[in-house]
Amino acid sequence: MDCIFCKIASNEISSKKVYEDDQIVAFNDLDPQAPVHVLIIPKKHIQSADQIADGDTNIIGKIFMVASKIAKELGLENGYRIVNNCGEDGGQTVPHLHFHLMGGRKMNWPAG
Ligand code: 5GP
Ligand code: ZN
Repeated sequence: MDCIFCKIASNEISSKKVYEDDQIVAFNDLDPQAPVHVLIIPKKHIQSADQIADGDTNIIGKIFMVASKIAKELGLENGYRIVNNCGEDGGQTVPHLHFHLMGGRKMNWPAG
């Protein structure tokens, strides 16, 4: 499948990985918007948050647990933000479900 994040998950495209298990991979964003900007994805191709099926709910929960683990490892003891952009109006540019884990600076709210 011609999907950048599937290719990152399978190492066809290189990335700086910060976490990996049998279901999930996390890697540094190519264009970081904060001192820490990691993308956490299921290895399984799910197009967007709008396409999460019954059988995917465990993995979504696990992604949030992994986010907390990565945040600790990367020193985000002051907090962090987890963002999902869904669909065109949500600002999603890569059609493979991903969660942005951002931190290392004070985040603004509301986000643009
Ligand atoms: P979205 O806009 O879909 O929420 O987020 C996509 C993110 O993927 C963007 O922050 C963008 O910088 C990042 N990105 C796009 N292509 C690549 C890539 O090839 N490698 C990495 N590491 N990040 C990418
Ligand atoms: Zn994919």
